[in-house]
Amino acid sequence: MNNTLVICGHGMVAQRLLERLCAQPKPAFSRIVVLSGEPAPAYNRIQLSSLLAGDAKEDSLTLKPDDWFQRHGIERRHGDPVARIDRENREVITASGHREAYGKLVIATGSRSARLGLPGEDLNGVVGFRDLRDTRTLIELSQKYRRAVVIGGGFLGLEAAEGLRCRGMSVTVLHRSSHLLNRQLDRVGGSLLEQALQERGLNVRTGTSPLSLLGKQQLRAVQLADETLISTDLVVVAAGITPNAELGRDAGLDCDRGIQVNGQMQTSDPDIYALGECCQLGKETFGLVEPGYEQADVLARVLSEKDSNACFEPSVLATRLKISGIPIFSSGQTEADDRTESVVWQDYETNRYCRLMIRDQRLTGAVLFGETSDGPWYHERIRHADDITQYRANLAFGKDYCNAAA
Ligand SMILES: Cc1cc2nc3c(=O)[nH]c(=O)nc-3n(C[C@H](O)[C@H](O)[C@H](O)COP(=O)(O)OP(=O)(O)OC[C@H]3O[C@@H](n4cnc5c(N)ncnc54)[C@H](O)[C@@H]3O)c2cc1C
Repeated sequence: MNNTLVICGHGMVAQRLLERLCAQPKPAFSRIVVLSGEPAPAYNRIQLSSLLAGDAKEDSLTLKPDDWFQRHGIERRHGDPVARIDRENREVITASGHREAYGKLVIATGSRSARLGLPGEDLNGVVGFRDLRDTRTLIELSQKYRRAVVIGGGFLGLEAAEGLRCRGMSVTVLHRSSHLLNRQLDRVGGSLLEQALQERGLNVRTGTSPLSLLGKQQLRAVQLADETLISTDLVVVAAGITPNAELGRDAGLDCDRGIQVNGQMQTSDPDIYALGECCQLGKETFGLVEPGYEQADVLARVLSEKDSNACFEPSVLATRLKISGIPIFSSGQTEADDRTESVVWQDYETNRYCRLMIRDQRLTGAVLFGETSDGPWYHERIRHADDITQYRANLAFGKDYCNAAA
């Protein structure tokens, strides 16, 4: 029986899986082959924001040097994406026609910038923000042009906007929702962020959507739903992500938005697994690296241990914005509902804000702006559903006051 593990995609989560497999006491496979669509081996995608802003160099994004792969006998094939999975013959076929037979197959193809479905989306000057190639393009265009519009005021859009601003561009952010980072922040947090970004020189328009992107071949302007025209030479599309699930879908695996998996990351074919941003567990897809890492840890055990009981369970995630000088932390619930009480603390002078959401004497959400050092402590209380009765009166003042009161 073929004991080769083939991995489609070499991003951050596939790399974590490789590292966990190599750390197992006994090798589970006689061969491991990684097939990547990108020309470079896995790199720190999260740091693309810093690269764009000029705060990091490309070299510093490398996750493992070449000799690490050689030492562990991992074969790599880059710049040749997998085009098809032939389940009957248990092999994958790449765009160049290369065939690779598998015993077990892992799909870790991540996701891509969601398309907007707008007229003009294919014009020159419309770019996503997903990989090294996009980032190089953005850096190049920032040297050529002065004006940019970023569509999407989530964390990716804001990091793109700030990066381009740092490179000297005049940037406008368009965001459909009524406040920025609406998935991570409440209204007050979102408007404090908007104010801080505007003070830095970013233009922000919330509650608005583009209607079309105008130009002949080259983008010239963005038309908004209210007929406003914004002249621009560059549009960055950062309005959500779409899982790269096509390989699984075309091969007949159960798919919804992503490739459906169970808690052991197994797809509807028992010899094929999926993890990271291309997979879906129940109704949930994933857009942060942490759950992908947890999935990789589980899958390494599933693939290495006989009858493993390892199982991935999604948990509450914390997010931080990586824009320097604007500390933001959020975890769990962000807006109160009729079963939730809120504790709010705001210092207008220093621009600090803290909103904590409580249900049945348990912390269910935290939104922090300006001062975030206690963020991880709040996050732990949320994750463990700790009873806060003893220190509730001190909750907004942070860990030290709560510990003293407990
Ligand atoms: C600019 C930026 C900033 C981010 N910041 C944060 C952050 O601060 N915190 C956080 O938690 N997350 C952040 N993320 C998200 C994080 O990078 C992802 O959650 C993580 O990279 C997902 O890992 P993955 O391996 O599932 O997918 P990816 O890292 O996207 O890797 C998938 C790889 O598969 C390749 N591929 C696709 N199709 C094929 C195919 N057919 N054949 C072969 N290869 C294929 C892709 O080209 C890619 O190289 C950020 C993302 C970006 C783009």
